[in-house]
Amino acid sequence: MKARLLGCLLYAVSSCSFAWSDAIREISSPSAQSKLAEIAAHHKAGLLALAESETLILLDQARAQKLPLDIAAAQHERGHIATMQGKYDLAQRVYKRALDIYTTEEKLPQTAVILSDLGTTQRIQTNYNQALDYYYRALSLYQSLEIKSGIAEQQLNIGSVLRALGQYEPALVALQHALVYMRRNNDLAAVSQSLSHIGGVYMAMQQYQEASSYLNDALAINEQLDLKFDIAKSHRDLGELYLKMRRYERARSHLNKAISLFSTIDVPLESDWALATLGQVELEKGNTNDGLKYLGDALLRAIENDFTGLITHVHLAMAQAYLRINDFTTASFHAEKGLSQARTRDELGTQIDFLVVQAKIFQAQKDFENAFLTLKEKDRLDSLVVDKNRAMSLAQLKTEIEVERQAQSIELLRKNKAIELAQAEQRNLSNIIVMGSLVAFLLFLFLLWSRYHQRQRNLTLKRDVKERTQELEQKNRELEEAYRALEQVSLRDPLTSLYNRHYLEAQLPGEIQRCQHNCSKNPDRRTTENGDLLCFLLDIDDFKHINDEYGHLAGDRFLVQFTAVIHDVFRQTDLLIRWGGEEFLVICRHANRSELILLAERFRVAVAEKRFQLLDGKIIRASCSIGFCALPLFRDAPYRLDWQKTFAIMDYCLYAAKLSGKNCWIGAVEAYDEPVDEGHQLNPLEQKFNLPRTEMKTSLNNLASIEWPVNN
Ligand code: GH3
Ligand code: MG
Ligand code: MG
Repeated sequence: MKARLLGCLLYAVSSCSFAWSDAIREISSPSAQSKLAEIAAHHKAGLLALAESETLILLDQARAQKLPLDIAAAQHERGHIATMQGKYDLAQRVYKRALDIYTTEEKLPQTAVILSDLGTTQRIQTNYNQALDYYYRALSLYQSLEIKSGIAEQQLNIGSVLRALGQYEPALVALQHALVYMRRNNDLAAVSQSLSHIGGVYMAMQQYQEASSYLNDALAINEQLDLKFDIAKSHRDLGELYLKMRRYERARSHLNKAISLFSTIDVPLESDWALATLGQVELEKGNTNDGLKYLGDALLRAIENDFTGLITHVHLAMAQAYLRINDFTTASFHAEKGLSQARTRDELGTQIDFLVVQAKIFQAQKDFENAFLTLKEKDRLDSLVVDKNRAMSLAQLKTEIEVERQAQSIELLRKNKAIELAQAEQRNLSNIIVMGSLVAFLLFLFLLWSRYHQRQRNLTLKRDVKERTQELEQKNRELEEAYRALEQVSLRDPLTSLYNRHYLEAQLPGEIQRCQHNCSKNPDRRTTENGDLLCFLLDIDDFKHINDEYGHLAGDRFLVQFTAVIHDVFRQTDLLIRWGGEEFLVICRHANRSELILLAERFRVAVAEKRFQLLDGKIIRASCSIGFCALPLFRDAPYRLDWQKTFAIMDYCLYAAKLSGKNCWIGAVEAYDEPVDEGHQLNPLEQKFNLPRTEMKTSLNNLASIEWPVNN
C-alpha cells in the first residue's frame, strides 16, 4: 500500500507533460507564448520559484491587457507549479479559473488539458473517484476531437489511478495502450512517464524484475531528455524498488541522488517522500537513529505543510520502526495516528497496513485477544477491499462503458449528421437540378416567347413602317400635288402652265437687284459679261379674231400651242410668264443685250412659221408683235430706272409695233445718260420717258418706219 501511494505521487506531479501544454501555449498571444516558453525552460532546469514569479508577472500582464486566453494560460501554469509545490487547493482554484475561461471561449482541446490536470491534483490527494471523473471527461473530449495524444494521456492517467486502487491488470492494459501510442509518436517524455508508471504497477504486484527494467528505462529516457525533476523521480522510484528488493545500497544511492536533485528544485513533498524512504532503508540497514531521524524530519515538515498522504506514510514507517526496536508505546501511537487518518480518508488499503502493524504490536505484547480482534478487523477490511475493488471495477467498467457509449453516440451523431448532411446535399442537389431545369425551361420558354414576340413586333413594325412610309409617300405626293395645285393656282397660269404675274412680282425684284448690282460692279465688261436681263413682251396679233372665228376653246388651244413656241425659242432658265390674255412676258437671265434682236426675230419667225392646229384639224397661221427692252436700260446708271418704268418702255415699244403693222418687233437696247446732241431729235419714246438718248432697234426697215403712239 505504501508503494502504491508513493508511486501515485511520484507519477502525479509530472503528469502534465510539456508537450501537452503546447495546446494551451499555442492559442496565447505571441508575447505570452514566448514568456511561457521561458517559464517552461525554468521548469526544466528545476527553477520552480523563478517559474512561479514569472508566471505571476505574466498573469498580471494578461489581466491588465484583458486577454482571457493569456490569463487562462498563466493560471494553468500557476496550477502546474502549485501542484508541484503541494499547494493543491490553490492548484484546484486556478485550474478551475482556467477551465471557466476555456469553456466560455469554447476551446475544447484546452478544456481537456485542464480537466486532466484537475484529475491529477485530485489523484495526488488520493481522491481517486473525482480524479477518475475528471480523467474520463477529458478522455471523452479527446475522443470526440479525435486527438490521439490526448486519448493516450488519459489512458496513462486512468491507468495510474487504477494502479493506486490496486486494479493492477486493467491499469497495465491502459498503461500499455498509452505506451504504444506514445512510442509510435516518439513522445519520449510521455513514454518515460508510462514506463515509470508501469514499473510502479509491477512493483506493487511484487514483480520486481519487470519493475526494475521499466523504471531503469524511464530513468535513461529522462536523463537523455535532461528533465531534472523526472530524473529525480526515477531515482526515487528505483530507491523504493530496491528497498523492497532488500538491495539497500542501491536503494540508498538512488534515494540520495533523488534527494540531492529534489533539494535543488523547490519540491518539498517529493523531497520528503524520498527522505522518508531513505529513512526506511536506514532502518532496514539497522541504522535506527538515522532512519528515525529522517522519518522524524519528514514527518515534521509534512505536518507543517499538511502533506496528509506523506504524514500517514511516515506514521506507518515509524510504527514499523518502533515495533522493530520494541518501543511498543511509540509504535502504537504512530499506528493509531496513521490508522485514524486512513479511516478519515477511507483508505482501506492503508488501514489494513496499519492493522497488520497493530496486530504485530499486540502479538509482541502477548495481547493475543486484541491481536486476534485486529486481524479479524483486517480480514473484514480485506473482504471490503475485494468488494470495493469489485465495486470499483464495476464502477470503472460502467464509466468505461459510459465513455464508450458517449464516444459511440458522438460517432453516431457525427455519422447521422454526415448522413443528414449528405441527404440534405442530395436533396439540395436534386432541388437545384429540378429548380435549375425549371429555371432553364422557363428561360428557354421566355427566350422562345421573346424571340417570337420580337419577330412579331418586328413584323408589325416593318408593316407599320411600310404603311407609314407608304402613307408618308402618299402624303408627300398629295402634298406635292397640293403644292403644285396651289402653285398652279397662285403662281401659274392654269391654261398654259406658265408662271403668272404673281410669280413675277415675287421673283423679279431679286433678279433685277442682282443684275443692277453686277452691272454697277462691272461697268467695263459691257460686251463680254452676260449680266443683262432681256425683257420681251409678246402679243398675238388679232387673237380676238381667232376667238371670234373658231370659238373660245380654239382660242385656248391656240394659246397652248403659242406657249409651245415660246418654250421652243427661249431657254428653260428664262422666266416665261403669261402676262395677261394673249400677252406673254419673257425675261432671259444671264444674257447680253446684243442678243435682243436675235431672239426677237427668232421668235417672230417661229410664230409666223408655226402651223397652229384647230380642234377639227384645221391649220391656221398667226403672227405676233414684240416689244423689248434691256434691263438695266442705263448700263452706266443701272439704278436710274426701276423695273416698272422699264416695263412701261417695253409696253410702249409693243404698242408701237402694233401701230407699225404687227408681225414685227421694236425695242430699246440701251439708254445713255449723255447730254443730247445738238442735232438729236428725241423720238416719242424718249420724250415720253424723259430719256436723253436711247438706242432703239426694230424689225421694220428702219427706225423712221416706227409708228409711235401718240403721247398725251
Ligand atoms: P391686236 O392684234 O391688236 O392685239 O388685236 P387682238 O384681237 O389680238 O387683241 P384684243 O385686245 O383686241 O383682243 C384680245 C382678245 O383675246 C380678247 C379676249 O377675249 C381674248 N382672250 C383673252 N384671254 C383669252 C383666253 O384665255 N382664251 C381665249 N380664247 N381668248 C382670250
Ligand atoms: Mg393684247
Ligand atoms: Mg393681241
